[in-house]
Amino acid sequence: MSDLTGKIALVTGANRGIGAEIAYELGLRGATVAVNYRGDDSGARSVLARLAEAGVSAESDAFMGDVTSSESCTALISDVVARYGRLDVVVNNAGITRDGLLVRMSDDDWESVISTNLSGAFYVTRAASKVMMKQRSGSIVNISSVVGLVGNAGQANYAAAKAGLIGLTKSVARELASRNVRVNAIAPGFIETDMTAALPEAARDGALGSISMKRFGSPVDVAAAVAFLASDDAAYITGQVLAVDGGMTFA
Ligand code: NDP
Repeated sequence: MSDLTGKIALVTGANRGIGAEIAYELGLRGATVAVNYRGDDSGARSVLARLAEAGVSAESDAFMGDVTSSESCTALISDVVARYGRLDVVVNNAGITRDGLLVRMSDDDWESVISTNLSGAFYVTRAASKVMMKQRSGSIVNISSVVGLVGNAGQANYAAAKAGLIGLTKSVARELASRNVRVNAIAPGFIETDMTAALPEAARDGALGSISMKRFGSPVDVAAAVAFLASDDAAYITGQVLAVDGGMTFA
């Protein structure tokens, strides 16, 4: 199990779903976790309660920040560094969907998804990278999607943002490698969370049919992969995209 003892980790959008599980997993493995939420902090508080119950990660705390705002992301990174003195791991997880066929997709559907899923990661990464470059160490993990690799009808906005996130990952990985800062992406397949619970039964059945392992993924499956990439076990891995999809894409 990858050890994260002593590391300071920030997970965006960690109020529920995959982000909450990533925050919990990193804490279980010894990291002190900055659990980001944007409004209601009840989910972030539940993550902290689970960590306390497990008797780990006592200095972890909840941090407010809306990733769609450049100022908010800068403030979020400043708050975390002011509190803990360093920043070793950033997981850009916050994301939304506004699905619809291209011809019916509104400007707002497009802009809100690009703003949250792509610009948010850019704002957070830019602010965090300044800290990590000075430290000469760090690991950034971006939560993309298999949809960013292969596309999906009804998700032009989401696929564009997630493909953009892969471009961001590879470019920033090249820029920061000489400072010992690694940047990787994970491309989850179909993971059971509120996001996928909202899909119609037919879409769920269709997705299941395309998964070689014949089961949906759980947030734990993604969290374990994030913990690996965040840790020193992945010390020589940068600029990569790891699909966590039960054999869905083979991309
Ligand atoms: P959920 O909808 O369950 O959770 C999304 C989280 O992101 C929530 O905590 C939400 O906060 C937070 N969030 C949304 N907007 C912002 C914002 N502007 N600032 C800060 N936080 C924000 O989604 P999942 O857990 O399913 O998805 C997590 C990530 O994984 C996303 O990037 C998603 O695209 C990606 N992914 C998910 C897959 C799946 O099958 N579920 C597959 C592939 C990728 P709040 O609680 O306040 O709403």
